[in-house]
Amino acid sequence: MKFISFGSGSSGNCYILQQGDSTIVVDVGIGIRTFKRYCNVYGIPAVKANAILVTHDHTDHVKAVGAVSREYNIPVFTSEEVHRGMDYNRFMSKKVPPALKRILSNNSPITIGEFTITSIPVPHDSSGNNGYIIEGGGTTLCIITDAGRRTPEIEYCVENADYLVIEANYDMAMLATGPYPAYLKQRIRSGNGHLCNDETAALLAEKLTERTKHVWLCHLSEENNNPQIALRTINEQLEERLPLLHANLKIEALRRRIPSQMYELD
Ligand SMILES: [Zn+2]
Ligand SMILES: [Zn+2]
Repeated sequence: MKFISFGSGSSGNCYILQQGDSTIVVDVGIGIRTFKRYCNVYGIPAVKANAILVTHDHTDHVKAVGAVSREYNIPVFTSEEVHRGMDYNRFMSKKVPPALKRILSNNSPITIGEFTITSIPVPHDSSGNNGYIIEGGGTTLCIITDAGRRTPEIEYCVENADYLVIEANYDMAMLATGPYPAYLKQRIRSGNGHLCNDETAALLAEKLTERTKHVWLCHLSEENNNPQIALRTINEQLEERLPLLHANLKIEALRRRIPSQMYELD
């Protein structure tokens, strides 16, 4: 399986997975021109994509879902609630054509090309939010973003992922002393907001197994976090609590506006 991030965070999220001739796009929160440019640069034929999976209907995840779906005739898979949320989102100017809407139910695996996809519920203040367990070629990659709190389903993903993309949105001290108004700080900290570095560190330290080879931290806040602090918090906890596992684990923070390299997962 191949994995690349085209962007991660409130300025736009978009991930691509490839397995054999099958391609899956997860969220298109970046603009369609940027999406096309990155597809060209990395040799990804968007026209051949089998599916767009959508986590939730916030604009940083869906801005160009309708536009890309229309342009390349790609079906869009997500829950009924998230489809409805996209229809109402006025910042998503091009809508998903009804003929390209596909409804995904949680915890019911489906086959898309060479992938098997299972969606799980993730708590967040949107019209629903899905995490994705994506299997292809014997490898499992899980994507958990915009998670207000951990749940048994999220813990299951951490325990069973060969590769894991998980949110580390904010540093508690930076959020507390940062410029956001009180109501927004409260929203971010709530059980329907985002995971902070310490929460993600504790979750990983409790649930990771030797199965996991690589963890990518995603959706880092620009104002309330930075890659150095997020990585330090998580590395320190893992080193202390799971020293052997930590020694063999790769951990990286995905960049907000710059594509990652194309990773080959085995
Ligand atoms: Zn988001
Ligand atoms: Zn969100």
